Amino acid sequence: MRCRWRRSLTDTAVWRFDNTLVRQLDGFFAPWQADPAKAPRMVLFNDTLAAQLGLPGRAAGDDTLAGWLSGRDPVPGSEPAALVYAGHQFGHFNPQMGDGRALLLGEVVASDGARFDLQFKGSGTTPYSRGGDGKSTLAAALREYLMSEAVAALGVPTTRSLAVVTTGEGVWREEPHHGAVLTRVAASHLRIGTFEWAAAHKGRAAVELLADYALQRHYPALTGAANRPLALLEAVADAQARLVARWMALGFVHGVMNTDNVTISGETIDYGPCAFLDAYTAAQVFSSIDHHGRYAFGQQPAVAHWNLYRLAGALIEAIAAVDEGDTEAARVLLEKWPQRYEAYWLAELRAKLGLGDAREDDFALAQDLFAALEGQQADFTGLFRALGASLEHGYGVIADELTDRDALRPWFERWQTRLTEEPGDAATRRAAMDAANPLYVARNHLTDAALAAAGAGDLVPLEALLDAVSRPFARRDGLEQFERGAPTGSPRFVTYCGT
Ligand code: AMP
Ligand code: MG
Repeated sequence: MRCRWRRSLTDTAVWRFDNTLVRQLDGFFAPWQADPAKAPRMVLFNDTLAAQLGLPGRAAGDDTLAGWLSGRDPVPGSEPAALVYAGHQFGHFNPQMGDGRALLLGEVVASDGARFDLQFKGSGTTPYSRGGDGKSTLAAALREYLMSEAVAALGVPTTRSLAVVTTGEGVWREEPHHGAVLTRVAASHLRIGTFEWAAAHKGRAAVELLADYALQRHYPALTGAANRPLALLEAVADAQARLVARWMALGFVHGVMNTDNVTISGETIDYGPCAFLDAYTAAQVFSSIDHHGRYAFGQQPAVAHWNLYRLAGALIEAIAAVDEGDTEAARVLLEKWPQRYEAYWLAELRAKLGLGDAREDDFALAQDLFAALEGQQADFTGLFRALGASLEHGYGVIADELTDRDALRPWFERWQTRLTEEPGDAATRRAAMDAANPLYVARNHLTDAALAAAGAGDLVPLEALLDAVSRPFARRDGLEQFERGAPTGSPRFVTYCGT
């Protein structure tokens, strides 16, 4: 392994880059530079994450960090590149996409040996900007920082956020906004769309090169598989099943599951229009552009499945080149994916419902809870905490969450009966449920209020919310306002993509 070591101002300011992608994936990127920000200022910096990655923390000095993480000063050891990809956007193939407002700085290796991409978002145009300005608003960068850190704290695989730095320049989105650069961290930025691009433009040899690179990077145990592209397909199918099951258990709506926003690593990526459910409804859509509900909450497993077929389409020639007969294995693997997903989802729901043992009727019990919740204005997150509390305080605490106080009564009786079929006292079971059901998530009304204050120059509410959602499971004094659902009569919440 060739490592680049650079020493900067202090001994703590060492960036340990080892940029395998630009060495091994020729043709998949354009070497590029960030626009130099004129007057960078650090707004948020994730010291905990920096320490985990072995990156220089605040000891390097805010101005030094802000200079690096805004494009003003080259990051020592980085080899910036814009990655190319394609993608199915709302079902339609776009053959030519790429990092239009993002820029890969390179890869850093954490002290435990794990490798991560560092990437700018909002650092200016690239060869793939297609008429966009390549910039991000401060509000969009802060929202991604908050949401990705909240999702990470919930134990969901995700890209992380290292920093938000304002550039000192304006960004125009129907009106002027502060411009900012988000630095995000990912296991990699390889997407299903990267494979679609290789298959559409470069052919089998490029797909094989990419598949081998992705396996080495994300699933190294599979590099000895007899059919490596097939092994990759199965690994991604599994990672996506696990990921989407976790989203569904937590009431997370990604909002724009185009194939260019689906990672090979199985991490959540692209926090544009995402949001957590307030009241549960399977048809919930937040995104302003998702007019037909393609990416509605309840659609997410089916869309993930559809996206995996696009990955299979990109890999199929490479799979067949190893062994023609393996295309049948790929077909069966995808055909059976819904069962794989359901097994992950059921495991999530068993934990949420305090079921230690596996019983045949558990799937129906879990599904019927959601059926009974349709139409109830119950805060999704709060409802599951109420289920836990009901073990000690009875049905009344659930009823308090509902529009129709009796809506869950028949289901509650069934659940109670089911619980008597396995050992365990109420307090222990409740503690287990509370460890699976968060108390503090980035609820929409809280996020909006915090971002509005940040836009007006007051970061305190955002930092308070970040603190709450960064330790989401155990109740803490003083955080009562963060555990309540949206006030009744709140306006319909809408999210936007290209902000
Ligand atoms: P997203 O909706 O964030 O997944 O973006 C879809 C595509 O549009 C990606 O290829 C982005 O790089 C590109 N894109 C989004 N916003 C901009 C922008 N402001 N400037 C240039 N490209 C953009
Ligand atoms: Mg995207």
